[in-house]
Amino acid sequence: MARRYPWVLAAVAWSEDLEFIRGRWHGKPLLSHNTAPRNLLATRRQLRALGKRPGGQDPVAFLYFRCRKAAKIVHANLYLIADAKPVRPMTPARAAALERAMAARRTCRECGERGWAELPRAHRTCEACLYRAGLAPDSYLHDYVIGEPTFDAAGHAALPTSPSRTDVS
Ligand SMILES: [Zn+2]
Repeated sequence: MARRYPWVLAAVAWSEDLEFIRGRWHGKPLLSHNTAPRNLLATRRQLRALGKRPGGQDPVAFLYFRCRKAAKIVHANLYLIADAKPVRPMTPARAAALERAMAARRTCRECGERGWAELPRAHRTCEACLYRAGLAPDSYLHDYVIGEPTFDAAGHAALPTSPSRTDVS
């Protein structure tokens, strides 16, 4: 039986000489543990540790290793450190835009209430609005909600907003 990852000598992007690689994966050189030159190639997270980002470049190689926890072989993209760009600095405008985007994920599209957790991506609707609209037969909310809603839509809208810390005596 042939080796699964045979050593082959091939032309690679990070060296002018032929280098030994462990075959190809998705058309790119495949490297195994400790065979990638650490001063030339880096994964996305290793680039980030260097204060760099891939900057739109395609990975020049893949690294494979066995993940014991997942009990399978996983692949990581390897990028050229020389072609990496510096991480863009966080500006107040960027931070504000991120904050808005994160808040939009927590805001119900029906009632506009902002919760503390991200709402499901499919509909971004809070559980109260889901229940008001009528639960689907396979909805998980059937396991949690017992009985009929106490308020109709108008009654729910007339409810005072949730008490803040100052209201608690
Ligand atoms: Zn809602």
